[in-house]
Amino acid sequence: MTDLTFRIERNANPAADATVAEVLADPGFGKHFTDHMVIIDWTKDAGWHDARVVPYGPLTFNPASAVFHYGQEIFEGLKAYRHADGSVHTFRPERNGQRLADSAHRLALPQLPVDVFVESVRQLVEIDERWVPAHGENKALYLRPFMIANEDFLGVRAAESVSYLVIACPAGSYFSDPTRPVNIWLEREYSRAGRGGTGAAKCGGNYAASMLPQQIAYEKGCEQVLFLDSCDGAYLEELGGMNVVLVFDDGTVATPASDSILPGITRDSVLQLVEDAGYQVERRRISLDEWREGAASGRIVEAMAVGTAAVITPIGELRSDEFTIANPPVTEESLAMRIRAKLTGIQNGVESDTHGWMLKL
Ligand code: PMP
Repeated sequence: MTDLTFRIERNANPAADATVAEVLADPGFGKHFTDHMVIIDWTKDAGWHDARVVPYGPLTFNPASAVFHYGQEIFEGLKAYRHADGSVHTFRPERNGQRLADSAHRLALPQLPVDVFVESVRQLVEIDERWVPAHGENKALYLRPFMIANEDFLGVRAAESVSYLVIACPAGSYFSDPTRPVNIWLEREYSRAGRGGTGAAKCGGNYAASMLPQQIAYEKGCEQVLFLDSCDGAYLEELGGMNVVLVFDDGTVATPASDSILPGITRDSVLQLVEDAGYQVERRRISLDEWREGAASGRIVEAMAVGTAAVITPIGELRSDEFTIANPPVTEESLAMRIRAKLTGIQNGVESDTHGWMLKL
């Protein structure tokens, strides 16, 4: 275990119990934050130091702070779930810690040891435990670890002063009805990431680049946007905030292989569960034409969007100006629904955790 002791400064004015209850009754997503946050500082000279849990509140930065100018920033997203016995568990947090370290490498930020990442999450959930929604309500505490370059210097080089933080907010379902299929807008003009770019890192810039296409998708009446590869514009990449998985009638389940998409932890878990259920998993290039032809011929029987926020959501239609791909209707027996029940069951402690994915805090 890396030697970093967390200093704890309790919030002297925490939210009233009635306020917490009100938020937990209808948390939405990303609006209401808990009483505390974690901060760990890093400098080139001193390394990681001053790990602390402090009251949630505004931060003060010099306007020259590097993050405002060059976007040297990365983040993560994971959830803590309450089980029936009242205990609280996170889902594969070491995976998020490793992905943060991988993102840090790409953005020339310092790598936070994975055990410190897991401990930082544990510290925040422990002190703000009353903000973890009750078992059985399809809600969780969403955790948002992030890292920013905060050196006051306008030179274009990797910052020598950085902060890592964790904040948390209770979260309900990302889509109003998580079992209702979502419609996706096919983006043909804009790419999310290019070859050799930052697509596989979870950095703010990728999301900034996806805002305009996402806005267009909303205008077209779709909930999410699908990006294609930036070289040929012919192969599936991912959605603005989720990975894509297709199900074939021969028992094959495929997902795009690309070094410019985010390696989703939900996707990895879904593919494991699908494999456990006897399906053949393929990580390979998937062309838009294959999806079009497969949906038309009946070879492709399901499409799903997978990610921490929405877990597994069936994709109804993939729409564009030129054509619409309509996927077959979803039933209780659809693989998306069965795997969703299995995965949320593991996360909420009602299915056995055969892969040892849950970490009790
Ligand atoms: N792709 C993108 C662009 C995302 O933002 C996310 C959400 N983190 C995902 C995929 C899914 O990743 P995960 O399952 O780890 O949440």
